[in-house]
Amino acid sequence: MVKDKTAQIIQARERLAQQVPDPTLVLAGSLMKRMIRCNKPGCRHCEKGQGQGHGPIWILSVSLGSRRVRQIPVPAHLKQEVEEGIRRYAEIQKWLKQVSRLSVDLLEERKKR
Ligand SMILES: [Zn+2]
Repeated sequence: MVKDKTAQIIQARERLAQQVPDPTLVLAGSLMKRMIRCNKPGCRHCEKGQGQGHGPIWILSVSLGSRRVRQIPVPAHLKQEVEEGIRRYAEIQKWLKQVSRLSVDLLEERKKR
């Protein structure tokens, strides 16, 4: 027996709901690279018009809502973990959209009867 479309969508959604990415590491923010200038006279890294400055250093930018942003320097040994958290956040957002897409399909299907 062929299952009807509604049952198929419900089943697909249940399957997807069980595949939620582990949210433990989730981190909502973005990592930015920045060079810094030491302002020491004669520093060849910071000479005006030349030199790239020192670094890079990494800054995590976190939105606090209503256009406020917090910027947090990230030491090199924690960078990988921060990147993983940001990646996980994106994965979960993608997963949520997929679940939602099925919910929309289901709504359309149920309206047909
Ligand atoms: Zn310098």
